[in-house]
Amino acid sequence: MGDCESIIRCSRCSLEQPFERIHGYYYVHDDEPDEWPIDTQDGWCAACGTVATLERLPTLYEIETWIADLEANGRDELDPVTGLMRTVALSIEKCRRRERWIAGRRSPPRCLACGSTDVAPAAEIDGFLHPGCGGRLSDLFTGVVSLRAHTARWTPEGNSLTSHPGPPPARGESDS
Ligand SMILES: [Zn+2]
Ligand SMILES: [Zn+2]
Repeated sequence: MGDCESIIRCSRCSLEQPFERIHGYYYVHDDEPDEWPIDTQDGWCAACGTVATLERLPTLYEIETWIADLEANGRDELDPVTGLMRTVALSIEKCRRRERWIAGRRSPPRCLACGSTDVAPAAEIDGFLHPGCGGRLSDLFTGVVSLRAHTARWTPEGNSLTSHPGPPPARGESDS
């Protein structure tokens, strides 16, 4: 428990939750050679009953903006990691594939810990109202950034191909 990133507390009830954001999740598509990193946001998961890392889906409008920006400002560049040319045309084609995925995606965003869609994204946890309680949550950064990998792979609909890690353990009386 000593290495969590944040402690979430409520101004009204006794909620005290260690919170460690989940990183390193990927979508696996049957017809895609690359795994796509899952974009995340903080929020509340009713199924976990805690603050959780949630899936964040790009909007079609957002993807159109990326494409417009590539068309206006993009330049073909050498990828320093792979040594291959990263062309504007290829980048736009990647955006188009994401667009097709979002257009066909049926499931709303999910909780990364449990897979539930009963979630409420929060622009910021600090000041977010604790659902069912009404108190304000505060997000106290502990100064620790965890580099622990939680790698998991999801289908394009957000179904986990591995088991979900589940909600974080509640802080008990005997916690040391
Ligand atoms: Zn509360
Ligand atoms: Zn959850």
